[in-house]
Amino acid sequence: MNWREYVRAVEPYTPGEQPKDENVIKLNTNENPYGPSDKVKSCVQDLDLLRKYPDPAASDLVEAIASYHGVEPGQVFVGVGSDDVLGMAFLTFFNSERPILFPDITYSFYPVWAELYKIPYRTKALTEDFRILPEDYKEENGGVVFPNPNAPTARLMELSSVEEIIRSNKDSIVIVDEAYIDFAPEGSSALSLVDRYDNLLVVRTFSKSRSMAGLRIGYAIGQKELIDAMQAVKYSYNSYTMNRPSILYGCASIQDEEYFRSTVERIIRTRDSFAAAMEGLGFRVIPSAANFVFVEHETIPAVEIFEKAREAGIYFRHFRQPGIDNFLRITIGTEEEMETVIKFLTNLT
Ligand SMILES: *Cc1c(COP(=O)(O)O)cnc(C)c1O
Repeated sequence: MNWREYVRAVEPYTPGEQPKDENVIKLNTNENPYGPSDKVKSCVQDLDLLRKYPDPAASDLVEAIASYHGVEPGQVFVGVGSDDVLGMAFLTFFNSERPILFPDITYSFYPVWAELYKIPYRTKALTEDFRILPEDYKEENGGVVFPNPNAPTARLMELSSVEEIIRSNKDSIVIVDEAYIDFAPEGSSALSLVDRYDNLLVVRTFSKSRSMAGLRIGYAIGQKELIDAMQAVKYSYNSYTMNRPSILYGCASIQDEEYFRSTVERIIRTRDSFAAAMEGLGFRVIPSAANFVFVEHETIPAVEIFEKAREAGIYFRHFRQPGIDNFLRITIGTEEEMETVIKFLTNLT
């Protein structure tokens, strides 16, 4: 017997590279180029308060999020980024002997949590054009999770199909990870279904559309029974997940709807013109409802473009996964950044 036999062996998630050089065009981790609202930047916090623990319930932030979405505070769970919220949701709801289901091409953290918590899982293939097929999620399962829009494909599933999956799984929890939903057309969010389905949990983040990836705020909305179950797990693990600055800045971000809307719309406009320009350069562009595009060139291998771009100080994301290893995921930056990318790619192609 040896202690090494009892170490929890895990293959961790690999986050995108965070280069130290601030001068690169960084389009590899879906950050928002516009930064948080001035309302956030002008918040002044008395740092002496840091000697005290924060409100364990983060009630100011919970109430701000609840009133923003028109739900009860008891329907909101907040966490340290949506990664924390998703991890808590896996731990809380996926305790069946039956496998949980998620797409084979999706957010690569799902299999990592499944392995960490020893949750059996089965993946479902996407179609040729990267669609999730609702029929695939109708077999017996211990839960379902998928992002909408999906990552890294950027492809949106229409709400009727999302609802079909939720409706067909009354006996298990369906988690819809809406990290990018603010960049999708209005009416795409499953939040409108929360009151009708007690098995639906919708997860959101401040990291992308609210441009606060560095602060780490995520949340889940569902019926109170689900949120209570998650709270019980959270308070059994760490009471103080939300620090004082997160609570304050998070509330300030929600108060600036105009800035939020205008920067999201700006990214959507840049995305659509960038996608058109990429098609003109011989790229296949998967229709995007997110703040990034997923592209493949008709002749030049993705690795080659990835490496040449990196040498030129332009960072994209490339996944060495069968089926998508000839694709690049490119975050939408400012208009100027995307023009530079187009110029670079024009010279390359
Ligand atoms: C970015 C992302 C997250 C995690 O975001 P946080 O920064 O932890 O809030 C979760 N799911 C998907 C699909 C993402 O792309």
